[in-house]
Amino acid sequence: MAINHSRRALFLRPFSQPELSNEQRYLPLRPPWSLEDDDFIEQCTQCSQCVDVCEENIIKLADGGYPELDFNKGECTFCEACVNACEKQFTQSVLNTDHKKTSPALVKNQGLKAFYFNLEIDDSCLSKQKISCQSCQEVCDSRSISMKWLTSIPVPEISLEDCTGCGACVSICPSSSFKMSALASPNSLGL
Ligand code: SF4
Ligand code: SF4
Ligand code: SF4
Repeated sequence: MAINHSRRALFLRPFSQPELSNEQRYLPLRPPWSLEDDDFIEQCTQCSQCVDVCEENIIKLADGGYPELDFNKGECTFCEACVNACEKQFTQSVLNTDHKKTSPALVKNQGLKAFYFNLEIDDSCLSKQKISCQSCQEVCDSRSISMKWLTSIPVPEISLEDCTGCGACVSICPSSSFKMSALASPNSLGL
């Protein structure tokens, strides 16, 4: 598949640059330990093995037939089944210097990420609407969500440093307030 390099250049800018629109920021959330997105698209055969083996059913074939994570259905346990089922890009990504650092054990033990992402809570959050809720905090195993008294009732705040990207908060949230988007890795940005 041909790569749109001008579009890729937009994606590879750091997210902190304010001139980027939300659409320009968007990268698909590929399964954990995937290659950079352009490389992923080039190498993925759309065989759907990763979809079939994910017991959490959070991998779907999305636009163009390529796999993406859907945290509306559940959370990633970092079980590695998708990595092991794929003889193409996942195997290579695990051998890649950058991704090798993010083995499941390191994700759990050292807080390193299986993929690069941003996670935000929008204003539809019930707590921000002054309706008491702390479902997200209760489900977060890594204790990355804390409740802050910013209004008359506590509202959730995420520590991205501690967040593993498991997505458990996404599916549990009754108001679908969590927005997760993929980022280009620091490696690809030359950072
Ligand atoms: S690591 Fe396991 S739970 Fe996570 S997407 Fe892959 S198969 Fe699914
Ligand atoms: S689960 Fe959703 S609605 Fe409830 S506090 Fe968390 S973000 Fe807000
Ligand atoms: S995605 Fe992050 S904030 Fe949400 S439950 Fe998982 S570790 Fe916690």
